[in-house]
Amino acid sequence: TMEYGPAPENAADAFAWLVDQGDRFGHFINGAFTPPKDSFTSKNPANGETLATLSQGTQDDVDFAVSAARKAQPKWEKLGGHGRAKYLYAIARLLQKHARLLAVLETLDNGKPIRESRDIDIPQAQRHFYFHAGMAQLMSSELPDRAALGVCGQIVPWNFPLLMLAWKIAPALAMGNTVVLKPAEYTSLTALAFADICRQAGLPAGVVNIVTGDGATGELIVNHTDIDKIAFTGSTDVGRKIRRATAGSGRALTLELGGKSPYIVFEDADIDSAIEGLVDAIWFNQGQVCCAGSRLLVQEGIAERFYTKLRARMDGLRLGNPLDKCIDVGAIVDPVQLQTITEMVASNSDGHTYAAAVDMPVEGCFYPPTLITGLAPSSRLMQEEIFGPVLVATTFRTPAEAVQLANNTRYGLAASVWTENVNLALDIAPQLVAGVVWVNATNLFDAAAGFGGMRESGFGREGGWEGLAAYTKPVSPNKPLARIDGFKGDKGPQD
Ligand code: NAD
Repeated sequence: TMEYGPAPENAADAFAWLVDQGDRFGHFINGAFTPPKDSFTSKNPANGETLATLSQGTQDDVDFAVSAARKAQPKWEKLGGHGRAKYLYAIARLLQKHARLLAVLETLDNGKPIRESRDIDIPQAQRHFYFHAGMAQLMSSELPDRAALGVCGQIVPWNFPLLMLAWKIAPALAMGNTVVLKPAEYTSLTALAFADICRQAGLPAGVVNIVTGDGATGELIVNHTDIDKIAFTGSTDVGRKIRRATAGSGRALTLELGGKSPYIVFEDADIDSAIEGLVDAIWFNQGQVCCAGSRLLVQEGIAERFYTKLRARMDGLRLGNPLDKCIDVGAIVDPVQLQTITEMVASNSDGHTYAAAVDMPVEGCFYPPTLITGLAPSSRLMQEEIFGPVLVATTFRTPAEAVQLANNTRYGLAASVWTENVNLALDIAPQLVAGVVWVNATNLFDAAAGFGGMRESGFGREGGWEGLAAYTKPVSPNKPLARIDGFKGDKGPQD
């Protein structure tokens, strides 16, 4: 096993890990890296520099990974919850030990501010492994009527590369499954570092397999007949394709898809807090967040005052080198994504576009924080996910109109309600079609709480008891399952 050395303080130190690997990566299958094939490169979106060369997973690679996972699965399940927890705790501790390396790698590969990868992505990934280690230990006492599904094919997006991996791998392993995971093609580096962490943890070969590549490799995983479950996080369009491909095949499926989440501000809200919340809702990770509060609905009486304050706050955001600890807004993940955002904003014909008066770097994939006001509720930008640092806004008069506007999309992932009137908040929240509703808050997550969407935002939940249930099947198909609603009224183990 490899040691990463001292925690990296800068990009050069993080590169030490890449250099150690030769900057060229194969897949991680059956406990070892395969020879690199140099099919495509991963770039730093902040400056365009090539970080590493990666391999495109072929049918042979996917077959090899699935057969390794299949072979490892019965033994892994037989270890029992306590046996598996030992490995999950070891992985969690190694994620903690190498937190700085992983944070720098994530920021280099994805473009997100180091403050976010250091304080959110990596600690949350650790938390998922700690939490699910605890849940694995509880499995035999609390879920005796459940067994593992078998081999899980998992496909994740690029916006939270290591965290989305943790959301997928931790519960699957806890319940006795083995996995073949494909990271997104723009951001595979932390998944490959994670593979090495599995090796350091002594995880049995074949329990975790990482196959890199683009959507074509994803399709090979989705269509593989020896996989028992597909877990996908990504766009609604690809989710729809996957649902078609798996329909009638007997394979289990969960989909975590897109969103256009409303951020509703009533006129009695604490305006300054609502503005700070909004900065987090839409400019966290450059707006590349499935549950981003990307649709501002503000009550008419305060709208102009709110927009004025918001524009001033936008002008104060610091955009630039994601490795700089003072930066609020980093780089967009890839030029392709930057172009999509640019084209969508340019297509706006009915609203007023305001781009924050921030200094823009001369190179790299950057897009300024943007606010578009005065859009008709039916306009494309009010309906479609932009997946960038662009907030669209409109006004409402009454609470009933706020609910009607909030629910007027094909999505239903998250919603935020801001008011100092608790009765109003409690009246509005249950009327919103959303997997999660935050009151006077935004972006609150925990491994113990199920997360997922309604309508075209997908189905199934990740996290908590519901997330665990999605990686199990009945031990005996003829016996009805006990309802999973928590551990004797508790929320599950805390780390
Ligand atoms: P994407 O759908 O383009 O890609 C996601 C993953 O699927 C990538 O690994 C990609 O290589 C793979 N893929 C692409 N085509 C495929 C195919 N035909 N078959 C199988 N796999 C395929 O999405 P993206 O652009 O990477 O991510 C952004 C999207 O993800 C947004 O819509 C966002 O809202 C969504 N998202 C949702 C959640 C959630 O929890 N609901 C979380 C994060 C991101």
